[in-house]
Amino acid sequence: MKMEITKENRTWLDNLGLSHPIVIAGPCSAETEEQVLKTAHELKDTDTNIFRAGIWKPRTRPGGLKALEKKVCLGCKSARRNRINVTTEVGNAEHVEKALKYDIDILWIGARTTVNPFAVQEIADALKGVDKPILVKNPVNPDLALWLGGVERIRICRHQSTWGHSRGFSSYKTLNYRNKPKWHIAIELKKEFPDLPLILDPSHICGRRDTILDVSQTALDLNYDGFMIETHITPDDAWSDAKQQITPSRLKEISKT
Ligand code: PEP
Ligand code: MN
Repeated sequence: MKMEITKENRTWLDNLGLSHPIVIAGPCSAETEEQVLKTAHELKDTDTNIFRAGIWKPRTRPGGLKALEKKVCLGCKSARRNRINVTTEVGNAEHVEKALKYDIDILWIGARTTVNPFAVQEIADALKGVDKPILVKNPVNPDLALWLGGVERIRICRHQSTWGHSRGFSSYKTLNYRNKPKWHIAIELKKEFPDLPLILDPSHICGRRDTILDVSQTALDLNYDGFMIETHITPDDAWSDAKQQITPSRLKEISKT
């Protein structure tokens, strides 16, 4: 995957001290302190410049995964000492408060949250005066207005660095994708906000490992600014999204292709 930097993105990349289009990598879920630290360590040999780990997971069904919040937050904090920025998902004001307490560098709003203007507004209010990049994922349903509204609510509270984040759109029983990319919707978003950096999440679009490279290549052709790729030390054992996670060494191979 050949990565080229576009002129308009140079400023925000420079501001973050990042020298090439963004690669965000790390596990779907922060499971244990050890898993967080091991994954962050293995990613040191890759092009990753932001480490992702989902601390508060929006579980579709009740029950299931329960990470030890404090431990994994501390794990993320130590991962950050390796000169890597850390990002996590926030779904409400309490998450924002905790993420700020643990000094997480970048926050993202997930697809299930962008659908709900009340939730996005609550997060925007909690973020007032906070100067950290915020990524707004597209809503699960293909509704451009909801995505635009999410970006606007965050921008209004003075976040200079708001990014768009495409993770595809859900539909019942899809054949090739877990979530269809519907590239034209992201293109429409860019028309409204030409300066908005756009990140692609091929992991949730593909839902499987073998098509991540192809989908990422399409995004590069469309001038996306970077990727968020779910990466796990032992993907088959992952507590969530096991089928789509790749190892840090596979990530290294993909970025060289
Ligand atoms: C995730 O990034 O693990 C996640 C839950 O994403 P989405 O909001 O796109 O479903
Ligand atoms: Mn996931």
